[in-house]
Amino acid sequence: MIEVHKLNKYFGDLHVLKDIDFNVEESEVVCLIGASGSGKSTMLRCLNFLEMKNSGEILLKGEEVDPRKNDLNKVRQQVGMVFQHFNLFPHKTVLENVMEAPTQVKKTSKADARKEGKALLEKVGLEDKADDYPSRLSGGQKQRVAIARALAMKPEIMLFDEPTSALDPELVGEVLQTMKDLAKEGMTMVVVTHEMGFAREVADRVVYMHDGKIVETGAPKDMFENPQEERTQAFLSSIL
Ligand code: ADP
Ligand code: MG
Repeated sequence: MIEVHKLNKYFGDLHVLKDIDFNVEESEVVCLIGASGSGKSTMLRCLNFLEMKNSGEILLKGEEVDPRKNDLNKVRQQVGMVFQHFNLFPHKTVLENVMEAPTQVKKTSKADARKEGKALLEKVGLEDKADDYPSRLSGGQKQRVAIARALAMKPEIMLFDEPTSALDPELVGEVLQTMKDLAKEGMTMVVVTHEMGFAREVADRVVYMHDGKIVETGAPKDMFENPQEERTQAFLSSIL
């Protein structure tokens, strides 16, 4: 699904991603972990072309994406993204939020977008909130709407950037459950998270980043119980 070769990204003089090699198979769930500032968000943003790489290759489904040749809006439709802050449109209802991109970007008819939107809200357990405004929802509910909104574009890959970090602890579980359901359905997912329980249970692979590099990659069990690199050990013992 995703192949990254020798990806480099700079912000001015700051070298943020250093020769990153990274692959994600179809239906795989990869959790990206690492300290703040290690480059996790930048990595996701490069995969979604919200940030432009300086060098290296990014292939989606076997084809290199070249910003000069490919329509990046089309590419972004294949790659859904959920952020820490949900950024729902406050003046639109929950259902309208979910319908927005399909009707505006894909020119889906309102009737179809409404039908699909309702089905997605049901999937994230919020069908009864369709006509409410986001301000009436809890943080966990807002994040589930944000997930439904991203799914409305029928992406083939979903990227999550610390989707539960802004939530009160009691609301984290419902969002993780929604993500777990999505993983079970076979969605290809890259998840930046500090929720090690989720990583352990749901991830096929965990990738540890430090200072713009991938230090270690492995199955969750191996990574958590028997990390090979000193850096990984230090990071894990600082958070577990
Ligand atoms: P993480 O998500 O792992 O915390 P980030 O990818 O957000 O890390 O950031 C990696 C580094 O890049 C940090 O040093 C951060 O300050 C820097 N950085 C991120 N975005 C920008 C930007 N738009 N302009 C300049 N520096 C940035
Ligand atoms: Mg980040």
